[in-house]
Amino acid sequence: MLSNYAFPPIDIPALTIAGDDSMCPVHRIYCVGRNYAAHAAEMGHSEREPPFFFSKPPDAVTQADQVRYPPRTGELHHEVELVVIIGSAGRDIPLDSALDHVYGYAVGVDLTRRDLQVLAKEKSRPWDVAKGFDQSAPISAIQPVSEIGHPTSGRITLSVNGELRQSGDLADMIWSVPEIISELSTYFELMPGDLIFTGTPGGVAAIDPGSVLECFVEGVTSHRFKMTGNKKL
Ligand code: MN
Repeated sequence: MLSNYAFPPIDIPALTIAGDDSMCPVHRIYCVGRNYAAHAAEMGHSEREPPFFFSKPPDAVTQADQVRYPPRTGELHHEVELVVIIGSAGRDIPLDSALDHVYGYAVGVDLTRRDLQVLAKEKSRPWDVAKGFDQSAPISAIQPVSEIGHPTSGRITLSVNGELRQSGDLADMIWSVPEIISELSTYFELMPGDLIFTGTPGGVAAIDPGSVLECFVEGVTSHRFKMTGNKKL
């Protein structure tokens, strides 16, 4: 690391790895929009439109068991997602070698200020304030491919205060994990430590300060956290 920075740099965000003392440094966070037909439909879109990409800043990740309810929203939504962790660099990655670039998987929540996203869509504005705020990417410990392989089917669920809100199956993704990696790598050179949130099944809804969220992907892991603080519009 450079020794002549004008002031100390912020630490590189890093995630715990199950069964391993080392940490996974986070490079970028990419997200897939509308990758399950049921969610595309509930957001008022045709099931035939292809998915697309957006991003969050790397330091949006948090593995804390308490997450601050963000300011400037009255409608914070949960989106449970399978998260892919990239382990080796590549661009224009062919479909048949895409999985070779995966280090592991996790379950995460793409927290969304839905009111601000709706406004952004209406006004053709960017989604950053709706998607890329502080602590907008709660995530579990990473499960290495060497331990769990590559999940291609299995339940993906999210409960709020013990009540099931989202339930889907990884097999229902419109773009599979290899297709996402191959497509994304035509836009960006993928790098070790890149995270890809792969989209959410149906059932997204609002949460409040005090809500306890439990998310789960069969064959991967689960993760639990509580929203703290107050609504501050
Ligand atoms: Mn999402």
